[in-house]
Amino acid sequence: MNNSNINIPYPSNEPILDYAPGSAERDSVLKTYDELYKKKTTVFLKINGKNVKGDSTKKMTPPHDHKHQLGEYHIANKNHVKSAILSALNAKSKWSKMHWTRRASIFLKAADLLAGPYRDKINAATMIAQSKTVHQAEIDAACELIDFLRFNAYYMQEIYQNQPESSPGMWNQLHYRPLEGFIYSISPFNFTAISGNLSASAALMGNVVVWKPSDHQIFSAQVVMEVFEAAGLPDGVINMVMGDPEMITNTILASENFAGVHYTGSTFVFQDIWKKIGSNISNYKTYPKIVGETGGKDFIIAHPTANIKEVATAIVRGAFEYQGQKCSAASRVYLPKSTSKKILSEVKRQLDTIKMGPPNDLKNYVTAVIHEEAFDRIVDSIEKVKSDTDAEIYCGGEYDKSIGYFISPTVVTTLNPNYFSMEKELFGPLVTVYTYDDKKWKETLKLVDETSIYALTGAVFSEDRYAMDEAITALENCAGNFYLNDKPTGAVVGQQPFGGARASGTNDKAGSVFNLLRWVSPRMIKENFIPVTDYKYPFLKEN
Ligand code: NAD
Repeated sequence: MNNSNINIPYPSNEPILDYAPGSAERDSVLKTYDELYKKKTTVFLKINGKNVKGDSTKKMTPPHDHKHQLGEYHIANKNHVKSAILSALNAKSKWSKMHWTRRASIFLKAADLLAGPYRDKINAATMIAQSKTVHQAEIDAACELIDFLRFNAYYMQEIYQNQPESSPGMWNQLHYRPLEGFIYSISPFNFTAISGNLSASAALMGNVVVWKPSDHQIFSAQVVMEVFEAAGLPDGVINMVMGDPEMITNTILASENFAGVHYTGSTFVFQDIWKKIGSNISNYKTYPKIVGETGGKDFIIAHPTANIKEVATAIVRGAFEYQGQKCSAASRVYLPKSTSKKILSEVKRQLDTIKMGPPNDLKNYVTAVIHEEAFDRIVDSIEKVKSDTDAEIYCGGEYDKSIGYFISPTVVTTLNPNYFSMEKELFGPLVTVYTYDDKKWKETLKLVDETSIYALTGAVFSEDRYAMDEAITALENCAGNFYLNDKPTGAVVGQQPFGGARASGTNDKAGSVFNLLRWVSPRMIKENFIPVTDYKYPFLKEN
């Protein structure tokens, strides 16, 4: 038995590889891409560490070539979900008693596997499954997931070190117990890192998990699972089930041992889950923790003093990287009348140089949107703009789904600050620009604050420090992640803990102590070294 006080050193962010022509990483990720693309992959349910067949299967296809079959994944029925719950509960006793440094070492090893031998595989799988450029895959599937795993292990240590004062004659100890029961994690399609972190963060703190990945990320989700297994994660700690999201969710929420949900996805699904938990509340052994990071309608506002090229570049990168399918993507922009024409023309100049196509052609900056439903939703919006009188397409607006779900980066301009695309999350390569009167800076800040139900990310560009200060104050509740002279995307673990409030979520900041604290239930232990032997306090004594 080792009794030494082991220390997890402070991690640094995983360096981002650049995949420049001629680089070793470029050749090797493309080779892995080809291999995975050609091979037929079967993804099984993962229950108690075993590959389990479902009742039926579904095909997996890449968004940029939807006729190509990558293989299939198995669909769970109710009994599979119940056995995933049971498997988690059976794993609980040993896992929660394992020393925290040993739990940490499993996830630290997973980080090193991702940084080294699995880097190509996780990136290539993400390029294929979610149609990410190699750069978008690298900053998500490799670097962000590695950072989540390393920083969370360090933050766990910080949490455990946090202990109360002890007066003379006693010793107070705070124990950070895992939650009683199991955690349900539900992940979205758009970030492989989030898919891994939702389960890993809860498991790291000693919890057991049933994980339901998005139907549109299963091809890369199985690589995440493979890495956890290769790192030595014991059977049953994280179980993966795929299939009808409502059936899976209803089965899980019906369990008296359901102890919490770790969700990332759209707002209305989260609200539905919350309602279901509410109506089941008297059936649970413990009040479930509800953690959800959800939608966004993220803004950029430029002051008249803002630098034209900086604002234009922030719009191009912030709105169109990964086809605008980031919860943090800029989707509403407020430009002053005095500079809006120049900014828009710089945006167009930059967009004219952008190439669109499959992610294995590294010249492409824009690839396909995730699925047909997303394609149709965005195309409907483009067509609506074309027929409306209070908005117009400034550039882009072309689309084609014959091979993959391709939509060109589209800039819409409007003089109606409440135009539907200024308010609604569309989650695609479409940004709407509203031009305001330079004299109405304060009124425009109010507009930004009141236009959307969301409050995830936002950015202000200004060379005037007083104006910037005004924006920081007026927009206090508009964004959980607020950027000054920078695009509103690209939060880095350990540097900008991420999450928003209002309809954007519970703001528990993924990759931080705030989030990890949700997966523990503190237990206070007071030991009295010198117990008293007489009930009388001094004031009761006679003179
Ligand atoms: P989605 O809501 O369609 O799906 C998210 C998850 O919920 C998936 O696993 C899905 O299968 C599941 N789901 C769908 N219907 C369900 C139901 N009725 N009951 C239970 N589960 C159900 O979202 P998506 O398209 O995968 O991801 C995009 C959304 O996620 C956007 O709204 C985006 O803003 C949000 N998002 C937010 C963050 C954040 O940190 N705030 C990060 C990434 C994505």
